[in-house]
This record gives sequence, C-alpha cells and structure tokens, in this order.
Amino acid sequence: MTDCIFCKIIQGSIPCEKVYEDDQFLAFLDIKPATKGHMLIIPKDHSVDCTQMDPELGASFFRIVNRLIEAAKKGLGAKGCNLGSNIGAPSGQEVFHTHFHLIPRYDANELSHWPRQESSQAEQVIIAEKIIASQ
Ligand code: AMP
Repeated sequence: MTDCIFCKIIQGSIPCEKVYEDDQFLAFLDIKPATKGHMLIIPKDHSVDCTQMDPELGASFFRIVNRLIEAAKKGLGAKGCNLGSNIGAPSGQEVFHTHFHLIPRYDANELSHWPRQESSQAEQVIIAEKIIASQ
C-alpha cells in the first residue's frame, strides 16, 4: 500500500528501531512508547487489521511474541507484558496496517487498566446469546 506508513517502514523508506525481522513479520519500537520497550509486531503482507490477516500466520506470530516477551524480561527487566491490537477506529486504531502492541510491564501501577463495569447475569446471558447466534 503506497500510502501506508507501516508498509513504508517494511520497505525501509521510513526508519524504525527494528527488534525482530523474518520473511513474514517485522517488529520495531513504538515511536511513542507506553512503557520502556513498547514494541509493534506487524505482518509484512498489508492488511487493515487482524481480522484480515492470514490466520495461517498465527503460529509464527505467537512464536515471535513469546520470543520478544522473553527478550523484554531478560534484556529490560520486564516482569510481564500486555499484548493487544486495536481493531477499528472506535477501539483507538490509528494506523490501518495490522499491528500488535507488545507492552513490557514493570509495575502494575504504571498504566491504568481499562474501566470495568458491573453487568448483571441476565444481561450477560443475553449478550452471550447474541454473540453465539452471530457466529
Ligand atoms: P494504534 O492506535 O493501535 O493504531 O497504534 C499505532 C501506533 O503506531 C501508535 O502507538 C504510534 O505511536 C505508533 N507509530 C506511528 N508511527 C510510527 C512510526 N513511524 N514508528 C513507530 N511507531 C509508530
């Protein structure tokens, strides 16, 4: 994709701080890290989000995730990590090339968790039924 910033990073026309690369994936440091060592893992084939990514890449993806989590623990002293992907603008997605945030965690209080709401059991049953019926 000619106007995709992450495709340009893959092609090398925009620089990045690379931490891993193979034929299918590139991982580099987020330019505005949430914590020290915040990484982005991206498939080289352009897709707008992970719902469009080739599911066959899943096994390789998780091998890379685990490798980078270990590296964050060993190299940076991380005690844990958050792994996530924003899918669609309402979720906060700003770059429309599939990417996974891998955020090393050093302390439980350094980032706030998303807010948690109460939901009645009756409401949960209805919601679960809608999700099941839509698959
Ligand atoms: P998202 O909100 O999930 O789309 O996140 C996109 C992420 O890409 C943000 O955390 C940005 O800081 C990061 N980002 C944008 N441009 C660059 C870049 N040139 N190099 C590294 N990270 C970038």
